[in-house]
Amino acid sequence: MKETLKRYFGYDSFRPRQEEIITHVLQGKDALVLMPTGGGKSLCYQLPALLMKGTAIVVSPLISLMKDQVEALRANGIMAAALNSNNSETENSQIIRMTLQGTLKLLYISPERLMYALEGFLRDTEVSLFAVDEAHCISQWGHDFRPEYTQLHVLKELFPKVPIVALTATADKITREDILKQLQLENPSIFISSFDRPNIKLSVRRGYRTREKNASILNFIAQHPGECGIIYCLSRANTEKVCQMLRIHHIDATIYHAGMTALQRDKAQEDFINDRVQVVCATIAFGMGIDKSNVRWIIHYNMPKSLENYYQEVGRAGRDGMPSEALLFYSLSDVITLTEFARESGQEGINMEKLKRMQQYAEADICRRRILLSYFGEDIDHDCHHCDVCMNPPHRFDGTILVQKALSAIYRTNQQIGNNTLIDILRGNYRAEVTENHYELLKTFGAGRDVPAKDWNDYLLQMVQLGYIEIAYNEKNHLKITQAGSDVLFGKSSAQLVVIQHEEPTAKSKKKGALPRKEKNVFSEQAIANIDYNELFELLRSLRKQIAAEEMVPPYIVFSDKTLQQMALLHPTTIEAFGNVSGIGEYKKQKYGERFTNLIRRALEK
Ligand code: ADP
Ligand code: ZN
Repeated sequence: MKETLKRYFGYDSFRPRQEEIITHVLQGKDALVLMPTGGGKSLCYQLPALLMKGTAIVVSPLISLMKDQVEALRANGIMAAALNSNNSETENSQIIRMTLQGTLKLLYISPERLMYALEGFLRDTEVSLFAVDEAHCISQWGHDFRPEYTQLHVLKELFPKVPIVALTATADKITREDILKQLQLENPSIFISSFDRPNIKLSVRRGYRTREKNASILNFIAQHPGECGIIYCLSRANTEKVCQMLRIHHIDATIYHAGMTALQRDKAQEDFINDRVQVVCATIAFGMGIDKSNVRWIIHYNMPKSLENYYQEVGRAGRDGMPSEALLFYSLSDVITLTEFARESGQEGINMEKLKRMQQYAEADICRRRILLSYFGEDIDHDCHHCDVCMNPPHRFDGTILVQKALSAIYRTNQQIGNNTLIDILRGNYRAEVTENHYELLKTFGAGRDVPAKDWNDYLLQMVQLGYIEIAYNEKNHLKITQAGSDVLFGKSSAQLVVIQHEEPTAKSKKKGALPRKEKNVFSEQAIANIDYNELFELLRSLRKQIAAEEMVPPYIVFSDKTLQQMALLHPTTIEAFGNVSGIGEYKKQKYGERFTNLIRRALEK
């Protein structure tokens, strides 16, 4: 097993649970595999497929996912193909012929086609195993129900001796039971991995308005030069605005939402997958069909409606296991919009509850990862040290006077104002809404001038969370003082607010491992040890892009970011050493060794 892992995939060791699962399947037993995105599910059936006689049949719901997997396998020199409606009939019959001859190790197929195939050529095929990918599609309870998946019970009926592996990244208890029952798995073992994604750093920024959000995003992208990411927005209009904002600042960005034509959407997706565009500004519609392993960051321009949505979207970052970031912006106007959505959804109770849990996460002053994992039913007994709360614990201060100023302004308007007008009154702004109602005559007008508007936004959000004010959703979102708020206003209790942490101005490249250039000459005999990591990484990255263009596959199919990073750190100059880098199997070693080692040698001589 280890030898095959190295020879075909170039890896030296298994990820957690992979070895157990593979051993189990090799013994001809059924399995249900639950692993987070990027956990390494594919290997759990691909490696057995290589070691077993015959062809593995992989059922997969999306053509784009099949394409990606097949390209990745072929890039490692493994015979694989996909039967689907994108192929010409000639291509499909050739694939069927190869399956019958036993030439293919893996055949990907959609569930609809599988049904025909089971009546036809699969009767004469030696099937090593069945893998059912995205197995949650089988369940009506799951979020991507596919009626075609419910036919899959015939697999066990027609091939009682062939092992079935079902795999998914999202399955609650009911869905899990549905999968087992519908596939009629025989004494299946269920393998559940932790859903933690420790390589993703989690952060939240609270109370930002558009201008500060944009500045913050530009700052963030400046710290991630050339790294691909997705910005999720709640509305189509926002995706367009954010995209335009980025383009003005010379960042390669595009949009993706359900209002575009299929052709436009495909182009946006292809451009992103092939590293032709750095940023996609998207609604939640984007991401399901992509397997791009080098998405380095996810920004939520608006808060998602639930933690399920949030974690699924966050999970699209860092599939390759390399450091990645997730940044969430959280504001009062998001809460208002999402509350409206929840109320109109026809399932107000559940959806409001989900929104509340989402808000608690955004407001957390304990480790965010603990909150997330416990929401998904996993207990961890330690803080992650890799979220903003762990890295920069919040401090509180006596904010009674601030709270009193805000509440007093609300009180003096007879509780007839929303968030923005309140801030205008506190800051002493002569806006139309203010002067029309003569709020400039109030005693509290300008009483909070010393606090920037952005900070007021943050404090008001905290006050909502602390239960001092409520938003009257049925009264134009006006702010109302609660009993607890009234206690603070009249001096019966005090208020503890969280100190606002201000963002640092733009830092330069944050990559570690870069050595000062000077040292190179001082220790000339150590030129190799001191080669500038960033420079070499960029050179390797452009060679990867060139090769990807030549072969018409996405760059991450040629090599993952992780493999490229290892190459930049180890700078192998012989084909032998090149083959030792993690992620380089025998096939890629032979195919690319010369070009990459040549480049590295030239870089070292420089
Ligand atoms: P999933 O389908 O669970 O989202 P994948 O099967 O696509 O995950 O694997 C995610 C990434 O991890 C891929 O780039 C894959 O090559 C890599 N990977 C899988 N197994 C290993 C391993 N044992 N060692 C190193 N990398 C691995
Ligand atoms: Zn933490």
